[in-house]
Amino acid sequence: MNKTVMNKTDMSEANNNTITIDGREISFTEGQTIMDAALAADIYIPHLCHRPGLTPHGSCKLCTVEVNGRSASACTLPAAKGQEVSSNTEPLKEVRKTITQMLFVEGNHFCPACEKTGDCTLQAVAYHLDMLDGHFPQFYPRREVDASHPAIVLDRDRCILCELCVRASREVDGKDVFAITGRGIDARLIVNSESGKLADTDITTDDLAAHICPVGAILIKEHGYETPIGRRTFDLHTVAEPGIEPVILTKGKHADEH
Ligand code: SF4
Ligand code: SF4
Repeated sequence: MNKTVMNKTDMSEANNNTITIDGREISFTEGQTIMDAALAADIYIPHLCHRPGLTPHGSCKLCTVEVNGRSASACTLPAAKGQEVSSNTEPLKEVRKTITQMLFVEGNHFCPACEKTGDCTLQAVAYHLDMLDGHFPQFYPRREVDASHPAIVLDRDRCILCELCVRASREVDGKDVFAITGRGIDARLIVNSESGKLADTDITTDDLAAHICPVGAILIKEHGYETPIGRRTFDLHTVAEPGIEPVILTKGKHADEH
């Protein structure tokens, strides 16, 4: 009898674990962030530096939402009963568009000539936000390309410093191949080897770090155009589409292959 009462209480408490996102009530479980709860409910909140299973980083700021009237990163803020979250609003969309434009002009992104085009999450987010141009003057930074590894190339021109490769290497691959050094405009991705070159690390094409880059900064050599342009993930789907996240996460797999 007591057990039944307890179960009912538990259930009722579980049912109270809800937040609203743009007026839609969704449930969450203890320990989930707002981003976790949103993804589980097929609600898209733009993000670039977040991938389920890796420690949230909160650095790209694209997932900035308003929670009970205050700004917060959806990927790091734990969901809590009764939160009222605004995400899909015009002011937040403008902020996200500005952040995305800055990411484009801070690096060297020439999409028509990029192997990642059509599979690039930055490009897909830009489309989602109706970004039509970079708006700001291009920085044209000089950045090093590392083609020393026989199977993997690192083109820092397109790196957005999301640290996904850093966390994937450390947390999933059990290696420590990448790191970010410097701050602000001087921040850059470095390789943890004596020479500073990828060839002198133990990274392999089986590593998550070799595949997780949301842009075309880490690429597998000799496989760039196996899926023709026009049949790539974001040629066929929008980044906001329910169920697209696992496709983005599946190594080397495209939307028409599942
Ligand atoms: Fe364009 Fe993405 Fe390539 Fe940058 S990484 S040039 S945004 S396709
Ligand atoms: Fe992110 Fe790719 Fe740069 Fe690594 S190389 S920090 S995954 S953009």
